[in-house]
Amino acid sequence: MSTFQAPKGTYDLLPPSSATYLAVREAIAAPLRNSGYGYVETPGFENVELFARGVGESTDIVTKEMYAFETKGGDKLALRPEGTASVLRAALEANLHKAGNLPVKLWYSGSYYRYERPQKGRYRHFSQVGAEAIGAEDPALDAELIILADQAYRSLGLRNFRILLNSLGDKECRPVYRAALQDFLRSLDLDEETLRRAEINPLRVLDDKRADVQKQLADAPLMPDYLCEACKAYHKEVRELLDAAGVVYEDDAKLVRGLDYYTRTTFEFVHDGLGSQSAVGGGGRYDGLSEMIGGPSLPSVGWALGVDRTVLALEAEGVDLQLPATTSVFAVPLGEEARRVLFGKVTELRKAGIATDFSFGGKGLKGAMKNANRSGARFTLVAGERDLAEGVVQLKDMESGEQGPVALDAIVSTLQAKLG
Ligand code: AMP
Repeated sequence: MSTFQAPKGTYDLLPPSSATYLAVREAIAAPLRNSGYGYVETPGFENVELFARGVGESTDIVTKEMYAFETKGGDKLALRPEGTASVLRAALEANLHKAGNLPVKLWYSGSYYRYERPQKGRYRHFSQVGAEAIGAEDPALDAELIILADQAYRSLGLRNFRILLNSLGDKECRPVYRAALQDFLRSLDLDEETLRRAEINPLRVLDDKRADVQKQLADAPLMPDYLCEACKAYHKEVRELLDAAGVVYEDDAKLVRGLDYYTRTTFEFVHDGLGSQSAVGGGGRYDGLSEMIGGPSLPSVGWALGVDRTVLALEAEGVDLQLPATTSVFAVPLGEEARRVLFGKVTELRKAGIATDFSFGGKGLKGAMKNANRSGARFTLVAGERDLAEGVVQLKDMESGEQGPVALDAIVSTLQAKLG
């Protein structure tokens, strides 16, 4: 062990379990790639103001959880706590929305940072795969994203997740609801901080997890009762499209989510095997965000799914992803001459697309075969001086135990045939 450890609230991904994380990222990305989403990558940090304005000055993410810092050059930056604001910033900066091809559909995968109180499923560094569809107001786009996330989770074999759905209204009806909710909250017996929150961001109070607060909220006015006609019609169509696609969801009138930019459709994927950190992913429509960060009006919708919690959900359901063995062939040289010859063959096999590894460090046969076993390779190639003198290597099938000589110049074609 070194003097150092991973910082609090972080952990390392190491083989073999790291392969599961890669597979989860890949499984979430696959339906997006298949649906017209292009890959976008933005820096790990941005101007701190982008998040303050984009995510919301009064959110926990901005007030408590952001890793903000000033550079030696005086720039005020923050490690990204989420992806949407950065992706929208990048799309606007590159004028993707002006190419006459709306919506701009983008997907991303990367690390995010929040200074949170660490616990199982809640880390200070975590990983998300996300999707954003920028510049179109169309219920089919909201439905598309929910369907793709559902597909991604199902393709991984997850079953015990639920989709919570709500509409947060728009700039017509939300202010009316906000005022009604505020009136109601002022009449409750709440602590000072919660009352303060009710003044700045009353919808967030609905999200309060404390039982005594939830009890008082039983008769709170609810957004669905305040939706204007346009928002009602929009939400109805999203629901009908999901129904037609056979995607099951639950209406949750109190679903607000922790970021301020959402309008209309909001949704969350929750997994029942995860305890308190049950949200595996979430998203919604953010029609006002572009203008909030200085862009034109670009109604948009997106989601982010958490890779860490998706892996925990797989564990909770006992799903074992069938990951292909990383190494197909393991080569074991016995002696100097064999090392040179076999190393050349390993390079040839790799060029032919066969995943091959080699026994390094001049190990004896016993130690090398231990490594071969551990690698999960289906075949081993063993060569000593006598084999080389005869122009062969010994090929061993690790499943059946069968072993026999193969001519040096037939190694690649023989293994290609055997591995299909
Ligand atoms: P949010 O941006 O808060 O809507 O988060 C989207 C998803 O990212 C959540 O559903 C989680 O799966 C994941 N996530 C957010 N914060 C954390 C965290 N601190 N640790 C692990 N995963 C997180």
